[in-house]
Amino acid sequence: MNMITNHLPTAELQALDAAHHIHPFSNQDELAGQGARVITSAKGVMLTDSDGNQLLDAMAGLWCVNIGYGRDELADVAARQMRELPYYNTFFMTTHVPVIALSAKLAELAPGDLNHVFFAGSGSEANDTNIRMVRHYWSAKGKSDKTIIISRKNAYHGSTLGGASLGGMIPMHQQGGLPIPDIHHIPQPNWWAEGGDMSPDAFGLARAQELEKAILALGEDRVAAFIAEPVQGAGGVIVPPESYYPEIQRICDKYEILLISDEVICGFGRTGNWFGAQTVGWKPDIMTIAKGLSSGYAPIGGSIVTDEIANVIGATEFNHGYTYSGHPVAAAVALENLRILEEEDVVGHVRDVAGPYLKRKWEALSDHPLVGEAKITGMMGSVALTPNKAARAPFAANPGTVGLICRDHCFANGLVMRHVGDRMIIAPPLVLQPHEIDTLIERATRALDLTLAQIKSDGLFV
Ligand code: PMP
Repeated sequence: MNMITNHLPTAELQALDAAHHIHPFSNQDELAGQGARVITSAKGVMLTDSDGNQLLDAMAGLWCVNIGYGRDELADVAARQMRELPYYNTFFMTTHVPVIALSAKLAELAPGDLNHVFFAGSGSEANDTNIRMVRHYWSAKGKSDKTIIISRKNAYHGSTLGGASLGGMIPMHQQGGLPIPDIHHIPQPNWWAEGGDMSPDAFGLARAQELEKAILALGEDRVAAFIAEPVQGAGGVIVPPESYYPEIQRICDKYEILLISDEVICGFGRTGNWFGAQTVGWKPDIMTIAKGLSSGYAPIGGSIVTDEIANVIGATEFNHGYTYSGHPVAAAVALENLRILEEEDVVGHVRDVAGPYLKRKWEALSDHPLVGEAKITGMMGSVALTPNKAARAPFAANPGTVGLICRDHCFANGLVMRHVGDRMIIAPPLVLQPHEIDTLIERATRALDLTLAQIKSDGLFV
């Protein structure tokens, strides 16, 4: 078979998928038994599957389709670029127009003196670049002992050897012999799960001070960088207490270490500013970008770095690069996506319209008997499911059991919402309109009601 169309029956597509396609982060046998959901088309914020069901995509794909689906402008730009120059590399003293234009645009959009971009094909690759780049930077400055990168437990920074090592996901470290050497993880600022009797602000401060403790224990002369997502995404949309980042910034200012803001999810408007660093108020030396850079229409990522880093690296040969670094089609698509984000003021829409409206509705979910905290920043939010709000108690069942039940009720009720353990999370397209927010909340509430009824009857509401 050399072509698969949408006209094959769903069961046939699922059988072929199970026979030949290995899915990321999946148990293949379980998936084969159930049959993968086949998505065939999408428009705006709605997906259509091979049975004709319509789903509101409250995850924007994988947190990436910021401008929504079905924008012809991006398809037209991609087709034009493929005809003009489908591929050329940026190695060996060459460059091309799309990568030049995109680099200049990103330098304009990025805060401060973040003016230089090293491109990759994804967020994981970009974080791999960051590991090599910060170590090379310090070595070029004569401080080759500065190799340790501090990250956080439950962080997500990608799935390559470097990205997964930076991430703090134990199940990922358990496969493939990770983390690589000289990556250190400190505890996360997750007040709901780990704050005990402390107030959120006292807890935020204490968790930030874990960074200082780690720097002092490891040795200032050994620590190269600290990496964090402004708001932890795949870890369950953990919005840190307000006290957290000012303290992190104070500590980073005090010691000579680089700050890496992983903006793969938070970048390009998701938190109501162009970058999450601006929302939480910290000043990175490097920003990791991907996802919303092209709204997922083409695979592209990168690292935006300061003048200082670019100058130091620039005086040496940095032995690093990918065949698809600055791919012309992906770069042209990203540039068109940035034009749309800017000209349609999508960031302003998140900040002033959709974000505040969604925040009001989302936070009201904390009145639901199954919901403990409901947190949101811009257009990324989470609710913690609990059998006992006052005690912030977990369920007696294995973590994720109730979350999975709720996720399935969401799908059955026309809503894509993901679960991380027993937290339900959303990150919808940024162009979501108020009436679509009403639909999202109605469907989420219905799924919560159905989940509560089911876990009560199954004896899981304990
Ligand atoms: N960093 C963060 C914060 C992410 O959320 C992700 C992906 N979810 C990555 C890095 C890795 O990006 P990619 O999947 O494009 O490699």
